[in-house]
Amino acid sequence: DQKEEELVDEMIEDVVKLLKSQAKLKNITIKHVQSENATITCDRSQIKQVLLNLIKNAIEAMEENGVIQVIVQEVNNKIRVDVIDEGPGISEEVIHKLGEPFFTTKQNGTGLGLMITKQILDRHNATLDIIQNSSKGSTFRIKFK
Ligand code: ADP
Ligand code: MG
Repeated sequence: DQKEEELVDEMIEDVVKLLKSQAKLKNITIKHVQSENATITCDRSQIKQVLLNLIKNAIEAMEENGVIQVIVQEVNNKIRVDVIDEGPGISEEVIHKLGEPFFTTKQNGTGLGLMITKQILDRHNATLDIIQNSSKGSTFRIKFK
């Protein structure tokens, strides 16, 4: 792996740019809440792949109109990134299958995005938590160590 110190908000901005037109088609706004100067030591292209997978899933989970929030926070000196959508959420049954290769509920899905995401995060000593929101949708939380 090619690990360097990278600005988290910069990587998110790159990915948001890539997904802007896809979001716009559904009138979805991506709101990025930054944590100035937060850095992680990582393989930049791999972490961008993770962010792309999660934000793309968020767009695909949502109907027309709404907001996806990508929130960067420093908690106990550790960087955390939350991707919060307003989709249908994830049922108990599905939550256990997430990250299994080829598990998809989409007509044209590959079911590989979350598997790859987990592999990349493993290699970065980071974890992925999936939280069912009380209102609507779900939160995919990356915690770096
Ligand atoms: P794919 O996107 O190709 O289906 P993923 O591995 O990215 O593969 O996701 C696997 C499955 O997890 C999806 O098909 C969907 O059922 C579920 N999923 C992922 N992200 C979300 C989300 N934000 N909201 C609801 N379900 C989700
Ligand atoms: Mg996906």
